[in-house]
Amino acid sequence: MMADHRGERCGVIGELRDPPHFFPFMRPDTPLSAATTLRLDITLGLWCAAVVVLLAMFARMTGLVARAIGPMPGWVFALCIVAFGSGVTGFLIARGIARAHWKTAGRMDAAMLLAARGQCPSCASWLLSTPPESDGRTTCPACKAAWKVGNTDGCPGCGYDMSQVPATAGPLAICPECATLSTASADATDTPPPRG
Ligand SMILES: [Zn+2]
Ligand SMILES: [Zn+2]
Repeated sequence: MMADHRGERCGVIGELRDPPHFFPFMRPDTPLSAATTLRLDITLGLWCAAVVVLLAMFARMTGLVARAIGPMPGWVFALCIVAFGSGVTGFLIARGIARAHWKTAGRMDAAMLLAARGQCPSCASWLLSTPPESDGRTTCPACKAAWKVGNTDGCPGCGYDMSQVPATAGPLAICPECATLSTASADATDTPPPRG
């Protein structure tokens, strides 16, 4: 369960239910906040480091590399074991931090980014043709969850003033600061930029 932008409890689409995988290609195609991506990248970096050290030790044990570039001294091998242990421990801790972050803030950030693009984070319905209500929230016609669609308060990723940024990706505008997508504001689409 999650809370919508009016603080009401609402459902959550499958793509946002589980914490995102640290392998980018294993993640669903949903937007993630910079804070979430950073934690996933650190997890991935530690995983890669542990694998590289493991491969180095494997090469030493099989003697393949040892024959080509000379034997690995014992102290280097001991260092490798320490590095591998640290890498695995660090990876497990980083993955735990990323998962905890997803439950506390990451999922809601991702829901906000998805809603800003015009899709309901509760049921995946499109909200682009539904006008916002007086409180600035758009009520999803399918599931009645309320979301902030578009970028009237600035870029949902970094707060950049998007009022003059026109739609360049279908109905969406791309933030020039952080490349976050959001539904272009009516001002930017209705009035063409002044010539001169
Ligand atoms: Zn919905
Ligand atoms: Zn931005």
